[in-house]
Amino acid sequence: MDFKEELLDKYEAVIGLEVHIQLNTKTKAYSSDRYKYGDSPNSDVSVISLGHPGTLPRFNKQVMNYAVKLGVALDCEITEKMNFARKNYFYPDLPKGYQITQDLTPICTGGAVKIKDEKGNDKLVHLTRIHWEEDAGKSIHDLDPFNTLVDLNRAGVPLLEIVSEPEIKSSEEAYNYLYEVRKLVRYLEICNGNMEEGSLRCDANISVMPKGSDTFGTKVEVKNMNSMRNVQKAIEFEIRRQIIANETGEEIKQETRAYDALNNRTLSMRSKESDNDYRYFPEPDLPIIRVSQEYVSEVKETMPPLPDQLYRKFTEELKLSDYDSKILTDSKEVALYFEELIQHNTNYKSCANWLIGDIKSYLNDKAIELEEFPVKPEAIAELVRIIDEGKVSNSVASQKIFPLIVENPEKSALKIAEENNLVQDSDEDSIKDYILQVFENNPSEVERYKGGEKQLVGFFMGQLMKVSGGKADPKSANKLIRELLEQ
Ligand code: ADP
Ligand code: MG
Repeated sequence: MDFKEELLDKYEAVIGLEVHIQLNTKTKAYSSDRYKYGDSPNSDVSVISLGHPGTLPRFNKQVMNYAVKLGVALDCEITEKMNFARKNYFYPDLPKGYQITQDLTPICTGGAVKIKDEKGNDKLVHLTRIHWEEDAGKSIHDLDPFNTLVDLNRAGVPLLEIVSEPEIKSSEEAYNYLYEVRKLVRYLEICNGNMEEGSLRCDANISVMPKGSDTFGTKVEVKNMNSMRNVQKAIEFEIRRQIIANETGEEIKQETRAYDALNNRTLSMRSKESDNDYRYFPEPDLPIIRVSQEYVSEVKETMPPLPDQLYRKFTEELKLSDYDSKILTDSKEVALYFEELIQHNTNYKSCANWLIGDIKSYLNDKAIELEEFPVKPEAIAELVRIIDEGKVSNSVASQKIFPLIVENPEKSALKIAEENNLVQDSDEDSIKDYILQVFENNPSEVERYKGGEKQLVGFFMGQLMKVSGGKADPKSANKLIRELLEQ
């Protein structure tokens, strides 16, 4: 049966996401082995990562710090007393034969991720839990035509798994959810959020039910998406596949499916019946951990600024638009640059415009990040100030001064303007000379203006800017042109 878009009105989708974030700690979750993406295979390993018998794990305190930070940022309950559990299964990239994870006592419970729903309204997607676990190694199937290769560098790298309640309603909401999670972990500087490298991974649980029903359909788990767009596309595909199954009376099996990005479809990997029984049991080699209230308070006090707080500050206190505030808080670097900029200049809107406009286009052109931008916020603040004082026009600032500041980031904007003779003439006499020169050069336009073609004032302004090298203050020039022509 072919899918018809009208069918989407008959059903509603229910989605829960399991997001793994790979933490950027110096050492692994339960050993002092280091890990760096791109290191040569099997070099970031010791007997612990290799799971030799008799080796003992030790938990990494930094992971606890990161988990509590994330939990605090998402408004979770932090578990006071927790332990680790073994999740047993056999796989070539899991030399120990089990993963050390958490089962009954995840470090965080509850909490929520704030997202935008399809209509653009705020919506909370509640969390079931966040638990601490270790990554397995990597099996590489596409490098050797006959063999699967195993790289154990990743074995033991710390992960936090964030499990959402089934409250996500569409592929777009799922995308927004991932976007917010990625932004947050980057602000917290606990994970680089890079899905292509696998530092952020997402499994999507998806079911459909007739609209208005209060019983969820059977869920299918989809894996293998290596970008946020692919998560969205996989969910879109899966919703349609399940609707067709419903319409044709085919039973939906609880199973795990893999997303095939090349053909934009999902394929069955394994059914629930063949699923492993992981036989979780408490990890005997690690102690029970207590997370004290004092520890949580300490973390709370050292929290970096969060995107949502900054967004609220920009919209509510600084009265910036939703659009500007969203762009300004999209990355921590931009938000912090802006915060510094407005320490030196309180024309918030102009500061925002410069950052979102000229600076961002410069970064795009050069394909560099804001961190590599040579000009300090203070210098941009001064540029905004001399525009506001009428010393230079906006267009001269943008087209002439800005490129010069980038070349000489140590020099003050005003000095650059002065040295290059770019300070604006608001002095009436000198503007008048320029205007009279324009009239002299364009006698027929002057006649036409006098004959009633008042819109030619724009033409004279353009000419004036040309002869004055952009230095005439547009407001007073406009007025003066009219006055001189009406005489
Ligand atoms: P499992 O034991 O199979 O891992 P869980 O109950 O732990 O299942 O849920 C795993 C994920 O699946 C969670 O994110 C949850 O929100 C989601 N989920 C549960 N039931 C459904 C459903 N019927 N449809 C979609 N997602 C679901
Ligand atoms: Mg699960």
